[in-house]
Amino acid sequence: MTIRFDAVPPLDPKVAAFVGGSHAMLVGNAWLPAASGKTLDVVDPSNGRIIAAVPAGDSADVDLAVQAARKAIDGPWSKMVPAERARLIWKLADLIDANVDMLATLNSYESGKPIGDSRNGEVPFTAETFRYYAGWATKINGETMTINAPGDWHAYTRREPVGVVGQIIPWNFPLSMLAWKVAPALAAGCTIVLKPAEQTPLGALYFGKLVQDAGFPEGVVNILTGFGETVGAAMSAHPNIDKVAFTGSTEVGRLIARAATGNLKKVSLELGGKAPTIVLGDADIDMAVAGASSAAFFNAGQSCGAGTRFFVHKKIYDKVMSGIAERAEKLKLGAGLDPATELGPVVSQQQMERITRLISEGRSDGAEIVTGGARAGHVGYFVKPTVISRTRPDMSVIREEIFGPVACAMPFDDDDLDKLAKDANDTEYGLAASIWTNNLGAAHRLAAKIKSGTVWVNCHNFNDVTMPFGGFKQSGWGRELGEQALQLYTETKTVAIRLP
Ligand code: NDP
Repeated sequence: MTIRFDAVPPLDPKVAAFVGGSHAMLVGNAWLPAASGKTLDVVDPSNGRIIAAVPAGDSADVDLAVQAARKAIDGPWSKMVPAERARLIWKLADLIDANVDMLATLNSYESGKPIGDSRNGEVPFTAETFRYYAGWATKINGETMTINAPGDWHAYTRREPVGVVGQIIPWNFPLSMLAWKVAPALAAGCTIVLKPAEQTPLGALYFGKLVQDAGFPEGVVNILTGFGETVGAAMSAHPNIDKVAFTGSTEVGRLIARAATGNLKKVSLELGGKAPTIVLGDADIDMAVAGASSAAFFNAGQSCGAGTRFFVHKKIYDKVMSGIAERAEKLKLGAGLDPATELGPVVSQQQMERITRLISEGRSDGAEIVTGGARAGHVGYFVKPTVISRTRPDMSVIREEIFGPVACAMPFDDDDLDKLAKDANDTEYGLAASIWTNNLGAAHRLAAKIKSGTVWVNCHNFNDVTMPFGGFKQSGWGRELGEQALQLYTETKTVAIRLP
């Protein structure tokens, strides 16, 4: 398996100027270095080279950003009528579209994902998410209640913004994770302190420029770069932040929930997953092979919804497994910025080491490595797309979130849907699942039995801005996207009036 290094086109001069320029954090209307003066390096995961340095903020910077966000929520932002907020959010969406090349290049440069996925997928989805929530800004309504008590009453509810929200996002989908959080918070009228992941701050900082260009009042969106242990922890514990929204590991989700108890801030968490991908005996094999491969290898497997536990009916097991292995072996590995790349590097050395460690554990536990199974090359953080067969439920490859291009499979040999659901549900996670079948009845029955926030049928990793996304069990609290995300960013106030 070869990796192409020689086909990365030179950076567009505008992108090169931004990446190579000096970077600062957006606090209020100002671009500031960290109060400590410290910086952190941003690395190109395709070769391990440093491409930029951004401020490494800490709690002093969090205090400043929270003050700016607090001032904004008590200032012109709260006086704007919803239609004005909607127009600003829509304008931001238009600016994202107008800057698609810049944003897509930054996104792929710092995360390693294929440029086509950024340009044709993630960035347009980001703009669409802002547009969708621009529409919601004018439709956040309360209700009137018919009161049972004697006398004349008028009782109604208002939906009010939660207040200042802290949003901590990961590196796997840096822009769409930003949009899933920022867009509904703006629609609801909240103000924001956002922390992108240490690996992927550049796209978020450029987004900050677009927020200013759109004309948002100062302090509505503040963007702090830095580490989770400093900036993220200070945000989670901050007494003047009313809500924290997080996407990332279940382990850090627990830390955030604990830190939030100080002022009992609201918490929403979108955490890890270990999605079962269930291929029933009657499935369209070609469709299942293509879909299951994409479930495992899309974004180099760095997706919370990635399909990693494959349950494949015994009668088609060998055919499906050889089909997935064949597709894995044909994937073109290369830098995210090479337009021909189908599988980029994983985001960091740490992730590469974690993935290869888990694969080795699978091997020593007795699983069969059908293809892949190791780092690819010696430069950058590439992992060979890997297919692991003959796994058992107790193996760490089946229990832990791998977050790499690794498909782990086991056959099943009867059509007892209760047993199949029990095996699929045998995990601490409950984020997503997919079922591959032509039997509509089996699809519906199984979908009802699977304990996860999303069940896909004959598709995987299909997200639409209208569809709520989030987890059962240890995959999180709350739902992002769709109308439900607005509940994360609004409080309901009841007003009861006794009529004189
Ligand atoms: P983390 O959960 O550590 O990172 C996600 C975000 O949380 C980052 O912005 C990170 O900051 C921040 N963070 C880290 N520690 C704290 C803290 N104590 N308080 C507040 N915020 C914090 O994930 P990793 O990057 O370490 O990846 C490890 C594993 O997590 C992956 O292998 C995968 O299993 C899972 N993961 C799941 C994701 C999902 O979509 N559900 C996304 C990313 C990872 P910093 O920039 O310093 O890392």
